[in-house]
Amino acid sequence: MSDGLAVERDRVVQLHYTIRDEDGAAVEQSHADEPLAILHGHGNVLPAIEQALVGRHAGDRLEVTLAPADAFGERRPDWTQRVSKKYVPNAARLRPGMSIRLQTDQGPRPVTVVKVGGKVVDVDLNHPLAGRTLTFAIEVIGVREASAEELEHRHVHGPGGHHH
Ligand code: ZN
Repeated sequence: MSDGLAVERDRVVQLHYTIRDEDGAAVEQSHADEPLAILHGHGNVLPAIEQALVGRHAGDRLEVTLAPADAFGERRPDWTQRVSKKYVPNAARLRPGMSIRLQTDQGPRPVTVVKVGGKVVDVDLNHPLAGRTLTFAIEVIGVREASAEELEHRHVHGPGGHHH
């Protein structure tokens, strides 16, 4: 872990993170037993977070506060879509307020269930954290060179990354 590599494009960064909202409440965090592993420079985390990580080393801690535009976007009012239940996994279990992942024109993304009908579901396409100013507390756990295969796949393999 202490080989002294700095974070830069095409290196693998292992990190722990906690995201807090304006009130200091944790809205998301990495699993305590397994740091998140990202291939840096390939959009696997928010661009502003990638930028903040450049040049950091294992053991560094940083805190970055992002306005909605740099985090998960401004909240767009009435940005809802009606989807046939047959395109929604586990549609029978859906309840308003639930966050689910749905295939959209922008690829798979988290949406929030607004209303559940007999055959259709209305979802809010805003990211659940849209419109929030968020503070990311990050601890860099390790930095290593990526393998050729990881660079080809544009994501990390093994602990904290993809398993396939
Ligand atoms: Zn892969």
